[in-house]
Amino acid sequence: MTKGNISVQTENIFPIIKQFLYSDQEIFLRELISNAVDATSKIQTLSRKGVYKDELGDVTIEVILDKEAKTLTIRDKGVGMTEAEVNKYLNQVAFSSAQDFLEKYKNESSIIGHFGLGFYSAFMVADKVEVVTQSHKRKDRTVKWTCEGDPKYTLDKVDKRERGSDVILHVSDDATEYLEESRIQQLLDKYCKFLPVEIKFGTKTEKVYKDDEDKEGTDVVTDNIVNNPNPIWKKAANKIKDEEYKSFYNELYPFSQPPMFWIHLNIDFPFNLTGVLYFPKINNSMEVQKNKIQLYSNQVYVTDEVKEIVPEFLTLLHGVIDSPDIPLNVSRSYLQSDQNVKKITSYITKKVAEKLSKLFKKKRESYEEKWNDLSVFVKYGMVSDEKFYEKAIKFVLLESTDGKYYTVDEYREKIKAAQTDKYEKQVFLYCNNKEEQASYVSAAKDKGYDVLVMDNVIDNHFMQQLEQKLDKVTFVRVDSDIVSNLVQKDETMESVLSEKETEKVLGIFKENIAAEANRFEMKALSPDEPPVIITKPEFMRRMAEMQRLQGMDMSIMPESYNVIINSNHTLVAEKLSKMRNDEKKSEFANYLYQLALLNQGMLKGEGLSKFVARSIEFLK
Ligand code: ADP
Ligand code: MG
Repeated sequence: MTKGNISVQTENIFPIIKQFLYSDQEIFLRELISNAVDATSKIQTLSRKGVYKDELGDVTIEVILDKEAKTLTIRDKGVGMTEAEVNKYLNQVAFSSAQDFLEKYKNESSIIGHFGLGFYSAFMVADKVEVVTQSHKRKDRTVKWTCEGDPKYTLDKVDKRERGSDVILHVSDDATEYLEESRIQQLLDKYCKFLPVEIKFGTKTEKVYKDDEDKEGTDVVTDNIVNNPNPIWKKAANKIKDEEYKSFYNELYPFSQPPMFWIHLNIDFPFNLTGVLYFPKINNSMEVQKNKIQLYSNQVYVTDEVKEIVPEFLTLLHGVIDSPDIPLNVSRSYLQSDQNVKKITSYITKKVAEKLSKLFKKKRESYEEKWNDLSVFVKYGMVSDEKFYEKAIKFVLLESTDGKYYTVDEYREKIKAAQTDKYEKQVFLYCNNKEEQASYVSAAKDKGYDVLVMDNVIDNHFMQQLEQKLDKVTFVRVDSDIVSNLVQKDETMESVLSEKETEKVLGIFKENIAAEANRFEMKALSPDEPPVIITKPEFMRRMAEMQRLQGMDMSIMPESYNVIINSNHTLVAEKLSKMRNDEKKSEFANYLYQLALLNQGMLKGEGLSKFVARSIEFLK
């Protein structure tokens, strides 16, 4: 037996390991299994190259729980270590790198979770660790390294065993959760699901039925293999069927709706990155869907916080990114300025734009069918990412109230003749509530205008963005004050009433209706337009909407609107202007006004019930 001291430079770091890493304790298992995978990959490579000439045999890694002995063992059939290697790798390299690591990141425990401090993380949960290892070089003896959580270790020669290593953790009394099968299974699911070497954890029992007659079934015990060593993102895209992509999605997010489509990422220069990103069904519930992308490094799960690597709008996507080139051992602010990370970000953005563009060009119909789910994503991308905007402006769609879809260019062409105002601006009319604004929509359509639907949470920002970027385009809500001025013919229409009569009618409204007098305005509109119309100043309304989106309280601002009286409508020109009885005049004007309010959805509560009661009286 050899005794020795681990090459400690400063103080004893074992208490520090335990204390500082408490929150990320569970990563010890990932670290130890990763080492087992590394050792296995090495022997596979040596065998492939003919350096290792013996039979490779079954290289399944085993995780073995022994509750009675209070041990958790990770067993591999990898390269193993000679005595010299144990000295070098465990007593010097691993120890000093663990020490360096702790020195640097003592205060950033979140990073430790991502990076891990390697072999020595075992001491977070164990007060004694044994490594029994047989090198693949047959002439070497099997050695056993023991360390009880202090700088002393022992090294014994033991009976020869098979190639590979057992790392035996004597779980400490304050970490007994790691002696629970369910806890270990949970960790294996989280960190090891896609590791490249099969990992066995105990057995599982399944009922097998011989035939339909066999009601009882037979229990069949099989190895419990916890991982899928060949995840889809490592395979060549042209060899994978759609069904496989879908079932992988289901594996990642059980019980989710199937994804719309996906992108297979694969690049090895100037950085290495593979992965599959899925477009989920989004609809309007943006927040719930965010941050579901999982980041792996060589098939080892690292984190699902990918904010720094994936542009904000792409966090709506789901799936997996695997890259050994993403530096995980550095602080967040550094990550944001890291050139590799920047390249990765723009690569992913570019791929996503390409995919959408291709889908739009090749399968426009199905693209339109998916637009409802895609639109938030594309618009969000456009308002938040300049580069994405440049690409997406060619495939972002505008939905018309009659259910047709147009690109921005197509739409400009379509409305050019009818919807260009006197300043040569193209007016994109829109509604954000098809039901509430129905009468305005149909009035606009009667005039030969087209109306878009803009009812998504992101649309306010999106419209503003388009107005800024596109030359001479303005968005105007269909019930806005600008609409009636849009086309010349409205302005040049002759009024049926004389100037004096017009003044008189306006007076009736101003005197009898409890609303700010300066809101009333007489206009000579078409006789087909309603007698009284309520419009809202486009600018003010949009300001208010933007501020509300930013979380400001808008209740202090009074709602602003205009009341337009159509002097050419028969109810105004013929009926109201000719009434003699003052009371009747007042009542009639009020009624027309209430109708306009009703049309705009502004008649509510008591006002509404009074109006209904009065209507019933009228009908009698
Ligand atoms: P890293 O894995 O980053 O090298 P670790 O602290 O996890 O750092 O491991 C230190 C070294 O110990 C490894 O590089 C490897 O040489 C050796 N080692 C650890 N576990 C095993 C194992 N199961 N089989 C063979 N060698 C191992
Ligand atoms: Mg390691």
